[in-house]
Amino acid sequence: MTIQELETQYTSGLYTKRPIAIIRGNGAHLWDSDENEYIDCVGGQGAGNLGHANPAVAAAIAAQAQILISCPEMFYNDRRAELIQKLIGIAPNSIRRVYLCNSGTEAVEACLKFARLATGRKEFVATMRGFHGRTLGALSATWEKKYREPFEPLVPGFSHVAYNDLAALDAAITDRTAGVILEVVQGEGGVRLGTPEFLLGAQALCRERGAMLILDEVQTGFGRTGRMFAGEHYGLAPDLMSVAKSMAGGLPMGAALIGERVGPLPPQTHGSTFGGNPLACAASLAAIDYLQSHHLPEHAAELGAWFAAELRKIDSPLIREVRGLGLMVGIELKQKVTPYLQALMAKGVLALPAGLTVMRFLPPLVIEQDDLSRVVNAVREVLTDDRIA
Ligand SMILES: *Cc1c(COP(=O)(O)O)cnc(C)c1O
Repeated sequence: MTIQELETQYTSGLYTKRPIAIIRGNGAHLWDSDENEYIDCVGGQGAGNLGHANPAVAAAIAAQAQILISCPEMFYNDRRAELIQKLIGIAPNSIRRVYLCNSGTEAVEACLKFARLATGRKEFVATMRGFHGRTLGALSATWEKKYREPFEPLVPGFSHVAYNDLAALDAAITDRTAGVILEVVQGEGGVRLGTPEFLLGAQALCRERGAMLILDEVQTGFGRTGRMFAGEHYGLAPDLMSVAKSMAGGLPMGAALIGERVGPLPPQTHGSTFGGNPLACAASLAAIDYLQSHHLPEHAAELGAWFAAELRKIDSPLIREVRGLGLMVGIELKQKVTPYLQALMAKGVLALPAGLTVMRFLPPLVIEQDDLSRVVNAVREVLTDDRIA
C-alpha cells in the first residue's frame, strides 16, 4: 500500500488532503515520497518559522531528550525557568507571567479562563472572520459557521463585531465583558490587517471598562510579521496574549502570556500535564535564540515587503488585492482559490488558502529571495493561465 492509501484507510477523515506524502525538509524546501522538491509557503501552517530540520532546534531537542523529557509543573525545572525568563524578555512590557501549554487553542482557552478569573465577569467580544481554535471555548470565539454549527451549543456570552469597526466594538463592550479577543492580523480569516485605530482603540476601551485585552498572536508571533510579535508594530500592551505555532520551532507548544492587569492567579484553577515539559522548553529556547541571532524578524520584514510588492506587479484580472505584513502575505482573488493552489503545487510551490478566495503564503522565515522570486514567477504563471478554473 502507498502512504496515501494507508493514511486514508485509518485517518479520522477530518482533513481535506493534498495527494502528496511529504517525507523530508530542509530550510524552506520539502520533498515528497517521489523525490519531488517543493518551495514551502505553507510553513507548517505557521509552525515552521524556523525552517525545516533547523540545526539548532534539532540539536536542542536531541540533547534534552537524553536528559529529561517530562517534568510536570509540580516540580521546578531548569529549562522551563530559562524559557519563561526568555519569554518575559521578548514579550510586550505589560506581560508579567507565563502559563505554558501545548497548542494554540489551549493558549486561547487559558486566556479566556484567566480573563474570567481576573474580572469576575463572564462575557467576551470577538470579531467576525476571527479564528482562535477548535476546543469549545476557543471555538466560541471563532467566527466561521462551518466550524461552529455542528458543535452548538457553545460557551454562552460571546458576541462578534466586524473587524476594524471601532464603533461596533465600543457598543459591544459592557460591564459584563471579561475580555475582547483579537488577532493583530487575521490569518485564517483572509490575511486582514488590523488598523491602528481599531487595535489601539480596543485597548483603550478595555482599560476604560475593566475588560481584558486578549491578543491572539498564535499565527502572527515569533517573527512572522517582521517583528517578534505583531502587536509591536502598534505598540500594543495586551493584558493576555496567546502564542503557539512556531514557539518551539515546530514542536507542539503554546503559552498564555499574562499581563499586569490580570494579577496573580488562584492556585489550582488551571493546569496541564504536558505544559512546560523540558523537551518543548529546550526546543523553544533554541528557536527564540535562533530567531534573534539570525535576525529573522528583520529578514521577514524586508523580504516580505519585497515579496508583496512583486506580487502587486502581477497583471491579472483575477487579483482583487494583495495584503501582507512581513512574511504573512495573502492574495485575494475574485474566484475560488483551490484550482490555483493545485496548479502552484504542480509547479513545485506549496501555499495555503485563507477562506475560499485568499491565497496565503507563510514561508519559513529562513527563506531566501531567489526562492521567493521563483514563487512570484509561479504565481504569475498560474494567475495568467486562462486554462485554470
Ligand atoms: C492556528 C491558530 C489557532 C489554533 O492553534 P492550534 O495549535 O491549531 O490549536 C488559534 N489562533 C490563531 C490566530 C491561529 O492561527
